[in-house]
This record gives sequence, structure tokens and C-alpha cells, in this order.
Amino acid sequence: MTDYLIKALAFNGEIRAFAVDATKTVETAHEMHDTWSASSAALGRTLIANVMFAKNLKGDDEISIQVNGDGLGGKIFTTAKANGDVKGYISNPRVVLPPTEAGKINVRAVVGTEGTITVIKDLGLKEPFTGQIPIVDGELGADFTYYMAVSEQINGAIGLSVLVDTDDTIRTAGGFMVQVMPGASEETLEILEKRLATLPQISQLMDKGATPEDILTALFGEENYQVLSHEPIQFKCHCSKERFATGLKSLGRAELKAMIDEDHGAEVVCHFCNKKYFFDVDELQAMIDDITAKITKIEQEVDEDNARIDDIAEDQDDKDGGL
Ligand SMILES: [Zn+2]
Repeated sequence: MTDYLIKALAFNGEIRAFAVDATKTVETAHEMHDTWSASSAALGRTLIANVMFAKNLKGDDEISIQVNGDGLGGKIFTTAKANGDVKGYISNPRVVLPPTEAGKINVRAVVGTEGTITVIKDLGLKEPFTGQIPIVDGELGADFTYYMAVSEQINGAIGLSVLVDTDDTIRTAGGFMVQVMPGASEETLEILEKRLATLPQISQLMDKGATPEDILTALFGEENYQVLSHEPIQFKCHCSKERFATGLKSLGRAELKAMIDEDHGAEVVCHFCNKKYFFDVDELQAMIDDITAKITKIEQEVDEDNARIDDIAEDQDDKDGGL
């Protein structure tokens, strides 16, 4: 079955909720980056949070997360689009750690407890919206809940879970996001708080076969919520050779020439999906020629402009002389 997310309203619209099964998505990330268990869990939780945040957006809008903590995993980068495409990587994919006392993966040791989480929303406007919070917990669920409260002024809760099998494959991955809508009653908030406090671990529920619908049933009770939509999500990178060519060209002629002379080509690796792109000598030379042609054209235009200015100045001189 493919991964999917559900959007729902609970308690007569006082609560908005998302729940997601991201098992295949996190498994794809594990396969692409060869992540070990603790790195898989930290990257996976960030991917799950990112895909849920992105589902608040529309169209081509996208949202990126940078977790920059002092843990063993280094930095985590993820990006998700409103359509459910998500991608990401962790700077140290090879972290494996003994379990915590509760028998869980030690995500806090991967993320760290000092540092920042930055969320960048690209809504197609001139400037992207950026929000930043300090890492407050390190297990990510509470950190993203804090982000939502501080930066988006939305109270709620975010639960994130990745269960890794003994062979490092992803057994389950999923989560939920609950948002309290303006005007929610005290009574609803009290019920929600109690439900959250007694909610079994998401990994345990999912390991018994729970779907996103089952997660919301566990959270709200079957009769208290209504599913609005059911949307696929997947790990997907939109990189292409053309995009990397633009990036290479921006390095300039000297740098491109050095690649030809020293390496007889250039290999570029996409951080998000580990795909490799190779540019041979001819392709690099074509980029240099293209830059040279553009510069020559600009120089010609400047020369023409200067000549025009000289003409005008001469005309002016003639007129002045005539007075
Ligand atoms: Zn890529």
C-alpha cells in the first residue's frame, strides 16, 4: 500500500488533525542515503513533520526544515511540497546507538539539545517566510509543536514515530498533527489533553497494523472526527541535469576551466537523493562559450551606449558652440 495522509476535523470543527503513514517514504530515504537506525529515525521524524506542515499549503508552495543541533547526526535538511512530495538528508547518516531506557531509539542524541530549527516557507512570493526556534527537547515532536505555537500561533500537538527493524529497514513510520482552531471550547481542550496523555505510542499502534484513520480513532474516538481528504505522499526529488548545469555555470569561467584541466569533467551529486550527474569536457566548454558569448554581447551593448552618449555630447557641444 502506498503512503498517505488524511486531513480531518474533530469535535465539531474545533480541532483540525492530520495523520500519516510514511513507512515507504522513510524506507526510501533509508535506501537512498544508507541511513543507520538512529539516523533513520531522526531524518524520518523530520520528513514526517515536514510533509504534514506542507499539507497546510496549496499548489506549488513548499516548505523546508533545517534542524541544526549539536547531536551526532549533524544537520538535517528536508523539503516538502503541498502535493505530498518530500525529500531530505542528514549530514551523518551512519549513527547507531543503544536504545533509551524506554527501549526507544535515542533520537535526542542524534539531533542534540542545543541549536536551532529553521522553517522556510516558499509561497511563491518575493521573499520566503522564515521562522526559527531553539531546540527545546531534541526528540523533534515537542520541538515542532513548540515551533507551531511560537511561529504560527497555533496550539496543538505533533507526534512523530519511526520504528526500525533489526536489519535497518523501516518497519513503520508515521505521525499526527493536531491543531486547535480559534474559539475551541475549554471542554474540548480538556478532553484532547486527556486523550493525548493516554495515547499509546504511534509506533506500537502502527506495528499492530494501525492506519492513519486508526491513529485518529485512538486520539479522538471514532464518532468524534470526520475525514476530509485522503492524499498520497512520497519521497520524491525534483533534481535534474539542467538544474545542476545552471548551478555549475554560476561558478564562472575560471572554475569551469579548472574542472576541464584538472578533472576532465565534473560530477555533481544531489544531496537530497544521492543521484549523480556527470558533465563531460564538451559540456563544460559549451558553458564557458555561453558565458563568453553573453559577456561579449553585454560589452558590445555598453560600447554602443557609450558611442551614443558621445554623439549626444557632441551634438550638445555643437549647439553650445552655435550660441
Ligand atoms: Zn535529487
